[in-house]
This record gives sequence, C-alpha cells and structure tokens, in this order.
Amino acid sequence: MADKGFTHNVLHVRPDSIEQLKDCLEKAQQGNRVAIPTEGSAEDSLAHRISPAEKITIVDISFLKKDDIKWIIHRFKKAIENNPPVWIETFRNWGQTQTIPVIASVPMTLDQLKRLIKVASEEKLSVRCAGSGHSWSPIFSDRNNLLIYMENIKSDYENGSRIRISPGTVNHVDVMAGVTTRQFKEFQLEKKLNIPANVILEVVQMISVVATGCHGVGYDVKAPSDYVVKMRIMDAKGNLKTFQRDDNKMFKAIQANFGCFGVIYDMTIELKQQDIVKVENQYRKLKDIFYDVEQLNTLFEENMSVELFWFPFNSERSNVTYNPDDDEVWVRVINKVGNGRM
Ligand SMILES: Cc1cc2nc3c(=O)[nH]c(=O)nc-3n(C[C@H](O)[C@H](O)[C@H](O)COP(=O)(O)OP(=O)(O)OC[C@H]3O[C@@H](n4cnc5c(N)ncnc54)[C@H](O)[C@@H]3O)c2cc1C
Repeated sequence: MADKGFTHNVLHVRPDSIEQLKDCLEKAQQGNRVAIPTEGSAEDSLAHRISPAEKITIVDISFLKKDDIKWIIHRFKKAIENNPPVWIETFRNWGQTQTIPVIASVPMTLDQLKRLIKVASEEKLSVRCAGSGHSWSPIFSDRNNLLIYMENIKSDYENGSRIRISPGTVNHVDVMAGVTTRQFKEFQLEKKLNIPANVILEVVQMISVVATGCHGVGYDVKAPSDYVVKMRIMDAKGNLKTFQRDDNKMFKAIQANFGCFGVIYDMTIELKQQDIVKVENQYRKLKDIFYDVEQLNTLFEENMSVELFWFPFNSERSNVTYNPDDDEVWVRVINKVGNGRM
C-alpha cells in the first residue's frame, strides 16, 4: 500500500487489496478523518469540497478495477511488449450464439505463443483458442480472458509446409493448427489417401473438428478424432509436449480435449488408402421411400453409403392441394467401384 503523505490536512492512500482498504478505513475512522474514495489522485477535483478544518483521507481504489479488461490489457501490453500484439475484441462465433469480450492475439511463432501463455499465467488469465468459430456452445474463452487464434503459427516442418506425410510413414499425416477441412481434403485427393470420416464443411479447422470430437458418419466408421495418433500441445508452463496414442492411457481424453489441455500446435492423423466410389443420384417420391420400411432397410443395407435430402414443399403447385407424399426425395447412393482400387 502506498501512502503519498500529507498535503495540509489531506492524506492520500492507495490500498492494493480489500484487506488494505479495510485497514485504511479503520485508521481514517480512528483519526477522525473523512475517507473519500476516488479513482487515481483526485485532490484537485475535491479541493473545493475540503474545508481547512477537515481532516481528509483520499483513498485511491483503482485496485478494485484490476479485473476490468481495460486494466488487464494495459498490464498485458506492458508485459508482452508487442511481441506478439494483443488487443481487446468482442469475439462472436459464426452462429452468433456467443458474444464474449476477450483479449485476443495471433501468435506467429512458438516463442510468441510461449510469451502469451507466460503473461496470461502471471495475470491468472485462462487461455482458450478459436478455430473458425463454427461451434455453437460456449467452448471459447471465458469473459475477459485470453483468446488465441492459431492460423498463422509458423510450422516447424521442413520447407514450412503446414500439412505433410509424417516422416517415416506412408499414411500418417501431420496437420498444423489452422489447416482447414478444405486444405485437408485437397491434400487427401493429391496423395490418394482418405479419412473414413470426412467433413463436408470446408471452412472449419481440422484441429477444432478433432478437439470437439465432431463429425464422422456411418455405423462402421469412427469420428475424425479417433484416427489421431499424436498431438503436440503447449501446456500452461509454455512447454511443448508430445502425446502419442501408443504410450498414453489418457490419449482418448487428449484426442477430443475441447481445447482444455493447452494449445494444440499440431496433430498426426492416420489415413487409409483412398477408395474409388461411384455416386448415383436418384429422385424418388417421398411415399415410396419413407412409407416402405422394407425398401428403406434394403436401401441402407445394400449400399456402402446413402444420403437422403428432402426439401419440403418441392411438389407444391398453385392449382393442386399440397401433399407431402408427392414431394421428391433426392437419394445419393455411393458404392465402391470394384474393390475400391483402380
Ligand atoms: C453450419 C454448421 C454445420 C455443422 N455441421 C456439423 C456436422 O454435420 N457434424 C458435426 O459433428 N458438427 C457439425 N458442426 C460443428 C462444427 O463442425 C464444429 O463445432 C467444429 O469444431 C468447428 O470448427 P471451428 O474451426 O470453427 O472451431 P471453433 O468452433 O472455433 O473451435 C472449436 C473448439 O476447438 C478448440 N480449438 C481450436 N483450435 C485449437 C487449438 N489450436 N488448440 C486448442 N484448442 C483449439 C476451441 O477452443 C474450441 O473449444 C457444424 C457447425 C456449423 C456452424
């Protein structure tokens, strides 16, 4: 606690905690002083209210605002020295179901990431990442805490690539934070590999899909996170740790960690050889599909993959009464060509 001393009958005190504040108020009371709470040193603005006979204690209570985001960013900026830059922003997810004031940053290097985590730790802030912000639930930063965007982090792979075949393997792929599902799909096509649980959305990030245990279709395939064999994660002390499927009993939790194990730097995912498939489009009446259980079962049992799209009211015409039975259902039937290898 700093005492700035007397100016005539005015005493300035600046407590740093509730305990010190209580102490100041007690002392003021014991000394028959009038305690005036202010933010900063406000003697000038109070001067006209202070009579020469009065004994005044001006109590600077700025510390009460130390959790205010403006104070946090002030201290954060001072400590991080613009390496990397940090700023206040209102984070909004894609679906606009989450609106959160945060301190944000986009580290470019592992060293910058480490610095961010160190300052956040000193400030007792929690750290969370955002990918493309397409999750609906509150799984981003808490209010006034640190939100990190990892899409620009430099990779440590040779020639700076962000996605590659893992050295010494033929079907393990290293994927950096920030790689989107579209980039991952293009890589699979180029290398004739595939993940049996691909994602249709193209703008989300592969590491987020894994972190949330999302996606994956088909009764005989798993979710993308199940195919992860290795992850490198920076922990709260700034150590980059490697977790492997084969030597870690915790790996199931690490695979789909919702960003709660630290900041994921990259992951290695196991792919299969690509299958060549034939896609057949059929347009069938809704009543022929949904009212005939046997046919519906056959459709699913006899094909590798079936997708049904029904856009209600597609048979509606102005001169006839609408009956959903007449709507067309778009049926996509997907099967391997031969054994799937050409
Ligand atoms: C229109 C739409 C359609 C969708 N369709 C489907 C669907 O068919 N099936 C399905 O299962 N889901 C679906 N989803 C959900 C979506 O795919 C997931 O929520 C996915 O995680 C979003 O990816 P993102 O890059 O936007 O991640 P974000 O939402 O930004 O982040 C997801 C989580 O990952 C964490 N994270 C991201 N990067 C890191 C990192 N480097 N280190 C640590 N943690 C990190 C974040 O902290 C957060 O907790 C859909 C969402 C939308 C908006």
